[in-house]
Amino acid sequence: MSSPNAGPRPRVVVVGAGVAGLTAARRLAGRGIDVLVLESSPRIGGKLYARDVGGVVVDVGAEAMLSRRPEGVDLARELGLEIVHPTRASSRLWTGGALRPLPRSLMGVPCDVDALAASGLLSGEGLLKLAEEPTLAPFVLQGNDISVGDLVGERCGDEVVDLLVEPLLGGVYAGHARQISARAAVPQILAFAERGSLLEQAAELPPPSDVPVFAGLAGGMGRLPYALAEGLDVRTDATVRELVRTPHGFALTVGPTTAPERIEASAVLLATPAAATARLLGELAPEASAELAGIESASMAVVTFAFAVEDAEVLGRESSGFLVPPVDRRRIKASTFSFAKWDWVRAAGEEHGVVHLRTSLGRHGDEVALQSGDDELVAWSLADLAEATGLRATPVATHVQRWGGGLPQYAVGHVDRVARIRAGLPDGIAVAGAAYDGVGIPAVIASADRAVERLLTP
Ligand SMILES: Cc1cc2nc3c(=O)[nH]c(=O)nc-3n(C[C@H](O)[C@H](O)[C@H](O)COP(=O)(O)OP(=O)(O)OC[C@H]3O[C@@H](n4cnc5c(N)ncnc54)[C@H](O)[C@@H]3O)c2cc1C
Repeated sequence: MSSPNAGPRPRVVVVGAGVAGLTAARRLAGRGIDVLVLESSPRIGGKLYARDVGGVVVDVGAEAMLSRRPEGVDLARELGLEIVHPTRASSRLWTGGALRPLPRSLMGVPCDVDALAASGLLSGEGLLKLAEEPTLAPFVLQGNDISVGDLVGERCGDEVVDLLVEPLLGGVYAGHARQISARAAVPQILAFAERGSLLEQAAELPPPSDVPVFAGLAGGMGRLPYALAEGLDVRTDATVRELVRTPHGFALTVGPTTAPERIEASAVLLATPAAATARLLGELAPEASAELAGIESASMAVVTFAFAVEDAEVLGRESSGFLVPPVDRRRIKASTFSFAKWDWVRAAGEEHGVVHLRTSLGRHGDEVALQSGDDELVAWSLADLAEATGLRATPVATHVQRWGGGLPQYAVGHVDRVARIRAGLPDGIAVAGAAYDGVGIPAVIASADRAVERLLTP
């Protein structure tokens, strides 16, 4: 930490009480450091948020975390939270007017070409293009990066990109395959392509095992921030508007312009979305700030429904929902049947005679999620659900959650951009969050750990 013994009592101020900021604050406090967390909104948690829908508190933001990466489940265990795993219900694709099985793939690169052929998803032409892939020479990257769509399209054909890669990437980044960085988002696919055939290497991946890929929390991921914040000094309704250097460290201007408050810090950890971090670093680190300002984001909405149990029987329990390829031009991009995916959601719903499911709308560059009214988002969701599944009932309860700028976009060149951002930070300032090394919860937690180490390493 910069000059820990200079001036007043050393204190780290963490800006942003999402999972990144709270994780960092907890780690710092655990090392005996005085930490204050400042959060602009009236609640903590950022994208981890649970609300009462039809009598049951369910996630209306992030609802799962990868469990093959250890950071999320390890943190939840450390906090004494009960980890659960999704059921075996599988997701499907809603395309060409039918719900079809989602073929096993590595982020859209098929692991079993025969099964893909049997699914009827690709045209004869699409299958022919795919069949050529193992004969192609290893991929040679021009420059330092390429989009996921261009990489997979060049080797496997556009249909694989449009029907498989797009809906899967759309789920994680709410972005477009032909804009998202392969190096940042799917480094394994890039490494495979540089080595040889994507299809052959994807086919050699171990088949699905009993080790679950995802985990959640009983009661919802929305519980994680509250467990993290326990014992921490967190102030909500505290928007940080300015960050400047002082002789002993830094000063933050907090609160409304009419009643600004100045808070001193020996070091500052910015765990805010890229646009806010760019604004706060404008004076202190103009180059890092400009790079951060170049990270775009996608806005989206999550609409959560509770239906009477008897009304939703048509959905069955075998499927956990479906993804929608953008080429199908539907309003929703996915639906998660939460009652079929999570046993705790089903059990809690049954006590109230309801089942829960959610839809998501909005991709990068498409402001529909932000600009449309709640009624429209609900009506579009119900219309698409009815057409896809036959569910025509009126919901018992509905909740619309907008996530303006909710997901950062990892454009081609993102990894280099992040290196330049980190290189441009002055001593005593660190950054963490979804904008850097991965948008998923484990990656965000890892970025918080990395930021803490930066501040603590002389
Ligand atoms: C709808 C949705 C679903 C998702 N689903 C999943 C999922 O299932 N699994 C998964 O792994 N990931 C998922 N993600 C991604 C993941 O949830 C996020 O990447 C992660 O939670 C981001 O955490 P964060 O701490 O970086 O940022 P945030 O959660 O955005 O927290 C940043 C905080 O900073 C505050 N802030 C901003 N500006 C200021 C300021 N000037 N002063 C003070 N405070 C400020 C904000 O109010 C916010 O609370 C999802 C994301 C979305 C939007």
